[in-house]
Amino acid sequence: MKNIAVLGSTGSIGKNTLEVVRNLNWNGYPVNVKYISANSNVELLSRQIEEFKPGAAVIFKQESFDELKSRSLKHKCEILCGQEGINEIANRDDFELVINALVGFSGLMPTIEAIKNGKDIALANKESLVVAGELIYAMLEKSKTKLLPIDSEHSAILQCLLGEPLNTVTKLILTASGGPFRDFSKEQLDSVSVAQALNHPNWKMGNKITIDSATLMNKGFEIIEAKWLFNLEVDKVEVLIHPQSIIHSMVEFSDGSVKAQMGVPDMKVPIQYAITYPERVRSDFPRVDFKSLKNLSFEQPDFDKFECLKLAYQVINSGGSYPVVLNAANEAAVELFLNKKIKFLDIPYFIKSTLDKHTNNTKPDLENIIEIDSWSRKQVFNAASVSA
Ligand code: NDP
Ligand code: MG
Repeated sequence: MKNIAVLGSTGSIGKNTLEVVRNLNWNGYPVNVKYISANSNVELLSRQIEEFKPGAAVIFKQESFDELKSRSLKHKCEILCGQEGINEIANRDDFELVINALVGFSGLMPTIEAIKNGKDIALANKESLVVAGELIYAMLEKSKTKLLPIDSEHSAILQCLLGEPLNTVTKLILTASGGPFRDFSKEQLDSVSVAQALNHPNWKMGNKITIDSATLMNKGFEIIEAKWLFNLEVDKVEVLIHPQSIIHSMVEFSDGSVKAQMGVPDMKVPIQYAITYPERVRSDFPRVDFKSLKNLSFEQPDFDKFECLKLAYQVINSGGSYPVVLNAANEAAVELFLNKKIKFLDIPYFIKSTLDKHTNNTKPDLENIIEIDSWSRKQVFNAASVSA
């Protein structure tokens, strides 16, 4: 029996993970949800507790914790609160895999706790690697933790790399759908609404990553994620727009051969692979119908239109604490955009102005990372309130 902890079980990746668990159990693969967590969604977490009967559930917001505790659920389990709750379960020996489906900086400490306790991690929370890739990489080298990607591009790369020595890899090609604004001009981008930005053509995801996909910051984050997951120079990582989202990424080798991993755009496939890795287990998820595909097309990303991708490349080259600023300023700006306080093109503007104010720390430790994260958010919120 594989026992798992699903952190962020009420989110898009979390719900898909529980769907994968249902599918695996249906197909006779023994996986059991031992722990689940949410930020504040008491309603859904309660239903998940009744269905999956975990040993404990962790809820982050204090008032939601109080509400959950006051409910009389049929399944009696421990109810824990916040990061302390995560720390409390992290060193228990009754589970072996953590699914980190938390969003943003909130995923960092659970990633670190999991590594400290030698748990394997199926990582959706790419922000952990963006802000603390070097630190996490160093911790992993000394630990028995396996870090497996859930992100579809990185799952594709992992699959393409099977059996291939790293020194034969000449290029990783990360594909990107291009988001809802692929064909928009910069002038049109100036007035796009939140509803338009949330209307992703191929993927149904949480709000934050949907906006990151519309600005292409998501792809910038994924370059950093690839660097740390596969220990590769970033100049070997290329981004290619592929609007159909059928090829999830590709690897080019020294003999000119290219491997691509394909599938319908459905996160359940990479989630299941991360849970069963290195095994493949039967699923009933939809298949690609090649006969009905009209074409698979590719184009270069437009860096002038999608300035967030340009900023991400600059940050990758500078390294140090710049990625922390990039991530935090982005989280703050995306929150402001979702709350209709700033415009779409203000997102890169506020990120750039925060990066400009920052003095690089070339080797930030965890404490520095937490400080710089909170400093960067403040810069964006202050600058936005002045300009409002
Ligand atoms: P969602 O916003 O849908 O879900 C986030 C989950 O984390 C929810 O369970 C939420 O709880 C919980 N949460 C939010 N904030 C906090 C906090 N401060 N402390 C503790 N828990 C919190 O996000 P997604 O599922 O879309 O994304 C999760 C991660 O996976 C992100 O890093 C994203 O980049 C990555 N990813 C997502 C993909 C997708 O298809 N969605 C694809 C590839 C990567 P509550 O419901 O109570 O608010
Ligand atoms: Mg992705």
